[in-house]
Amino acid sequence: MIYLWLEYNPPVPLRLQIEATRGSARTGKLITPHGEVETPVFMPVGTLASVKGVSQDVLEELGVEILLANTYHLYLRPGVETVRQMGGLHRFMSWERAILTDSGGFQVFSLNELRKVSEEGVAFRSHLDGSPHFLSPEKAMEIQIGLGADVIMAFDECTEYPAETHRARASMELTLRWAERCKSYFEEHRHEVPWGRKVHVGTAAPGCPGERNLADVAELRSAGQPRVAVPTRPEATQALFGIVQGGMDRGLRRESAERTIDIGFPGYAIGGLSVGEPRAVTREIVESTLEHLPSNQPRYLMGVGTPEEIAQYAQLGVDMMDCVLPTRAARHGLLFTSEGKISIKQARYAQDESALDPACDCRVCRRYSRAYLRHLYASNELLAQVLNTVHNLYYYLATMRTVRAWVRAGCVTAPGVSRA
Ligand SMILES: [Zn+2]
Repeated sequence: MIYLWLEYNPPVPLRLQIEATRGSARTGKLITPHGEVETPVFMPVGTLASVKGVSQDVLEELGVEILLANTYHLYLRPGVETVRQMGGLHRFMSWERAILTDSGGFQVFSLNELRKVSEEGVAFRSHLDGSPHFLSPEKAMEIQIGLGADVIMAFDECTEYPAETHRARASMELTLRWAERCKSYFEEHRHEVPWGRKVHVGTAAPGCPGERNLADVAELRSAGQPRVAVPTRPEATQALFGIVQGGMDRGLRRESAERTIDIGFPGYAIGGLSVGEPRAVTREIVESTLEHLPSNQPRYLMGVGTPEEIAQYAQLGVDMMDCVLPTRAARHGLLFTSEGKISIKQARYAQDESALDPACDCRVCRRYSRAYLRHLYASNELLAQVLNTVHNLYYYLATMRTVRAWVRAGCVTAPGVSRA
């Protein structure tokens, strides 16, 4: 058997261990401070430190190994100080596995009328109450260090679509300058991640212990306290990924990739896609950008796509993806199945006794009929959102499992490499 151990030099904690390749695709493990993640991986989106409608124990049962949370939303509510005081996102949301936070940039740039971009950063108004805020590369790092995800993202400008070449270049240059500032701030402050800090347990109630050390984890558990997420490798710190921009221009994408690599990060993301461009263009830009990214480091494609698309991108060599589609669509009754997309609200399912997806063995498809799921949705029952989301997430995760098995099966040294 052949194992390609491709490590990034210490002290960066995160590394990608590639176990098999097939064409451009690869499968392996992303080693993070909070556990190993089988790649290629789809990361469910837990915007406000919650995958809407699905509790953490169910996410674990589904096999979710890494979640994405949104910096912009958590910064506004509950605020980074609250999360920091709770020991970081892992402990706050009782999730011991890996977490990735975005930089907040994409959400801020989506605010349109409510934002103003300058060299220094972005002034914007909260979508909640209109209050004024300012995000800079340094501030985005400070917030993400406080939130304490395993993987954090550089603050970038998501170039709008369509954009003229000169505009895409100016935007790319700004992102590169911001990437330098992000790295400088991160290098200086990475030790401030709240994983190892003392955490407050309980409130100021009389007789309540004020502070306890994380070493008391066993005692906390036996006392029925929330589970505490301790890094599996205590010496580990967060990893900051750079983001490639450049609009829909292949030349700019190449330049952005090369100059971002020159700055130096333990992983690279492809940003600025799925912003309204035709899918064929997305694929072309992904494929051409991947050629310029290091083969021994994780490659993250941000904000895509349908089950078919994530399978395609994984086959092109993408290791990590995230998208709100499975969870958001589920809440609107749109379900992904092996027979295509189903809108469960349709009257045709009112007396359909079959499973949602006969080929799916998720806890929803094993137990409930389309008729019941349709009834729940039509009746606006909370359970409809829960069950629909569980199935869609399972379907996405199963899609990635299939891709991983496909890559392993194509490896000439498949025997000896454990299968998914
Ligand atoms: Zn299912």
